[in-house]
Amino acid sequence: MVVELAKRVLETLEENGFEAYFVGGCVRDWLLNRPVHDIDICTNAHPGDVMRLFPDHVPTGLKHGTVSVKIEKQLFEVTTYRTEGKYEDYRRPVDVQFVAQLRLDLERRDFTINAMAMDRNGNLQDPFGGRADLKACLIRAVGTASERFQEDALRLLRGVRFAAQLGFSIEEETLSAMKDTAPLLSYIAVERVREELNKTISSSGVQLGCQLLTKTRLLAFSPGLDRMFDQSGEQVRRLTRLPTLVQKWSLLMYAAGFTHKEAKEVCGYLRMSNRETDMIVSFVRLLCLLGVEWDRPQEVDWGPLLLAEGWETCQALEELLQTCWSNERDTQSAQVLETVYEHMPVKKVKELAVSGLDLQIALQKKPGEWIMQVLNVLLVQTALHGLPNTPEALIEAAKKEVANHEH
Ligand code: ATP
Ligand code: MG
Repeated sequence: MVVELAKRVLETLEENGFEAYFVGGCVRDWLLNRPVHDIDICTNAHPGDVMRLFPDHVPTGLKHGTVSVKIEKQLFEVTTYRTEGKYEDYRRPVDVQFVAQLRLDLERRDFTINAMAMDRNGNLQDPFGGRADLKACLIRAVGTASERFQEDALRLLRGVRFAAQLGFSIEEETLSAMKDTAPLLSYIAVERVREELNKTISSSGVQLGCQLLTKTRLLAFSPGLDRMFDQSGEQVRRLTRLPTLVQKWSLLMYAAGFTHKEAKEVCGYLRMSNRETDMIVSFVRLLCLLGVEWDRPQEVDWGPLLLAEGWETCQALEELLQTCWSNERDTQSAQVLETVYEHMPVKKVKELAVSGLDLQIALQKKPGEWIMQVLNVLLVQTALHGLPNTPEALIEAAKKEVANHEH
């Protein structure tokens, strides 16, 4: 088991005269009986010692005292006890200093529940009452909350994120300091803000997360984000049903009443990738187009939508609607979409038996926008209304269509 492998790291360090502990998130999650996704280790050994004792290592963050040690293909981050130097511009410190005492290392950590260490026999080092706060379900800053948020404003969002993930409350003084220092969040790189928001909207307590973000006004520096998270109704709870971040962001924006243009602005602001942005904008646009309502399952006329948007977009939309609007995955709706698609004799303008040039010649008209318009009408008629896909039938239909427009 991974924990056993990690214990070997502690053992080796101790056998060589050093102290070593599990620390931070893994200790918190063990005590809560939650799944642990990465095991961090802290030690008074310096990075040079760690590298010497574990020849199989990756020097992942020497500047910050971190060496990743590999045991049977598992990587464990081993970090030397440290305090943080001066903080500049309310962001992470520029330099760090190694220290000899565990307590000093725990002191630099953000919240009491994240500031505990455990030795390999399960003995807890908990100088700030993290265990009691875990029991009381409280997020409490280590030391003076307002100072800690001024040192690194990302902690503001981390606090909300942990509350949402764990279903915890934020302790009174910490909460009040959050409100006071909220404007400092504007100094934090937007990518780091986005990562925390990603974790918040992916958590089971996303509704609570939204409430806290609104109550603390943490997102006031960005009107778009502020508005998006200023909601915590039934719609937001549905985010927990969705498996992907793209789906979650899309739903959140739709629920906030965003147009697809507003969605694009916020995606740009958050520096999402082009791919994510395109998918989110497309979802929001389609949800708006369909006028999807929250209180009943959506019935979609897939034919025209398939022709306009293509198979992949429709399939993704169907999945979103199904996951979000019904409690169980209803395969019937996916089948309806598939059947409609398979029964369409043509699916794209390119598959029509006439080209734009054919139409131009047959109708003896100058090229122009009319060509694409007529081809699209022919596509709908052929795909959905039984018009045969032959040059004769198509040209005749095209003539009628043009005549209709000219009269
Ligand atoms: P998870 O990995 O589940 O998101 P975590 O608590 O392990 O949560 P990490 O970001 O992996 O969070 O950080 C590991 C530990 O480092 C934290 O538990 C905390 O003790 C400390 N830490 C991380 N970021 C900060 C910060 N911005 N300020 C102070 N301490 C921090
Ligand atoms: Mg972690």
